[in-house]
Amino acid sequence: MSDAEMRRVTAICNGTVIDHIPGGQALQVLRMLRLESGISNPISLVMNVPSDKLGRKDVLKIEDRELVQEELDRLAIIASEASVAIIRNYGVAEKRQVGLSDELVNIIKCSFSNCITQNQREPLPQRLRVVSRSPVEIRCSYCGKIQDMAEIHERII
Ligand SMILES: [Zn+2]
Repeated sequence: MSDAEMRRVTAICNGTVIDHIPGGQALQVLRMLRLESGISNPISLVMNVPSDKLGRKDVLKIEDRELVQEELDRLAIIASEASVAIIRNYGVAEKRQVGLSDELVNIIKCSFSNCITQNQREPLPQRLRVVSRSPVEIRCSYCGKIQDMAEIHERII
């Protein structure tokens, strides 16, 4: 491995580092952030690193891309304990908080096909309530249906 390649694994020049992702969830995080396809940014992914806090954790490094608040809100749904650092010129320029709010407005679509929010003629905002945080449980504010977390990334608006 060359010096430049080594640096890519250990540190990035500019971009975002997402640490403390629950072990094995890094790919799910990429899907939530819609970064799994169609972008050319180098992404390093480290999975199942021993962690005091989580047992096992994943770490993601996304080069030349600074996550915005809207993306952090989506990240919180599957990795509410994640810590996010914005890297500029090899240093931590900003730390951003990931926080799961009590209500998710226009972030995720309800999965129930008969839900009133699926009515195309009178579109309603998507409102889902976080009813439990560990594990995360999300319920539609209109029809009350509990959302399937395994396929939640497919329902991002
Ligand atoms: Zn619903």
